Amino acid sequence: MKKTLTYFMAASIWACTPAPQEQTITSVPMDELAERYVKTVLQLGQYDSDIVDAYYGPESWKPTTAPSDTLPANSLLKELQTITQELAKQDTAGLSQLEKRRVLMLQKQVLATKTKLQMMQGEKYSFDEEANLLYDAQPPQQPLSYYDGLLQQIDSELPGKGNVAERWNTYRKQFEIPKQKLDTVFQAAITEARKRTLAHYKLPANENFTVEYVTDKPWSGYNYFKGNGYSLIQINTDFPINIERAIDLACHEGYPGHHVFNVLLEQELVNERGWKEFSVYPLFSPQSLIAEGSANYGIQVAFPAQERLQFEKEVLFPLAGLNPKEADRYYALLEKIGKLNFAGNEAARLYLDGKITRDQAADMLVKYNFYEKDKALQRTRFMDRYRSYVINYNLGQELVRQHIERNGGTSGNPEKRWELFRELLSNPNTASML
Ligand SMILES: [Zn+2]
Repeated sequence: MKKTLTYFMAASIWACTPAPQEQTITSVPMDELAERYVKTVLQLGQYDSDIVDAYYGPESWKPTTAPSDTLPANSLLKELQTITQELAKQDTAGLSQLEKRRVLMLQKQVLATKTKLQMMQGEKYSFDEEANLLYDAQPPQQPLSYYDGLLQQIDSELPGKGNVAERWNTYRKQFEIPKQKLDTVFQAAITEARKRTLAHYKLPANENFTVEYVTDKPWSGYNYFKGNGYSLIQINTDFPINIERAIDLACHEGYPGHHVFNVLLEQELVNERGWKEFSVYPLFSPQSLIAEGSANYGIQVAFPAQERLQFEKEVLFPLAGLNPKEADRYYALLEKIGKLNFAGNEAARLYLDGKITRDQAADMLVKYNFYEKDKALQRTRFMDRYRSYVINYNLGQELVRQHIERNGGTSGNPEKRWELFRELLSNPNTASML
């Protein structure tokens, strides 16, 4: 079905010009393009299980045939090119701001899908090119001397003598949640995060989640959104989990992070507007930067620094059987160490651009992010697999923070912050659209 747009050319004042002419431009309706895009992503997902992070659209849109031995790159690429051309032909003049954002976001999502397909075909991009094509963002670059300065500060504040990373790793051991208390602590954190979110947002009545503890995963937590307001949240217990991770994970995976983001997209864009492109979430796409960035920023929306510290000391530390006396210094150090997080992006950039070896990249992670060497090497495997995805967490958080604060959602105005954050979660957004 095609929509036909008719334009009448304005009559000329010149007597010799011809009579008004009718010019016809046809464009495929957005809902049809959305369907074709979803089907293409699902088909591509048959060739790499990381591609489709969530899908809860029509069953009948899933591929009906098993994947072939080789990726049908040409037909997929052709379809993506057609969708791109049709999106460019959309007459956006009469559209609302929201509808315009829909078109723009789908263009960026399609570009990312095309890029991912080309990468699967062996196309090579630099770290920065890839970040731009897949996540619609330009990762900032800091000289390593900037991080060296931060290291010196942390060095002077950490108790003990010797190597900073080793001292930090020894120091932080006292904040590990004993394994048998993990569920109690995590349940308390997620209950509080949910309570705080529901005090500001009305979520659909069927909104719910379950928590599972798993092992042998390359991540620390994961949200699997299954549709109908339901998430399966998994927590990886391979390594000891420190006390601050309870609120981090409860907010990031649950409230007001990934779970709430997906619930709002499903309710407001998929169900109410029928914008089915949002029923698929392709991992390697601009949506990921918004998802990870908002999930990280959501922690401070739900638990502003002082309120968080109070809740940690009064509720979570006792539940975990930990002594809250050292909590203030620990959280102050965590905040400083958080700034070193971007150094991990530099390691990934240098490594993926072939400027340093795997071993050198691991050494950078040991030096700046306090990894132990074996875990740092494991982290380089994560870089092999997810590549520039690493920027979505920290750069994403930074872009979301800037956007919210620029519009008045500062720490001094928490109500406005909640309001702007909800707006961000329930509308089409990519990094460059913020
Ligand atoms: Zn996440």
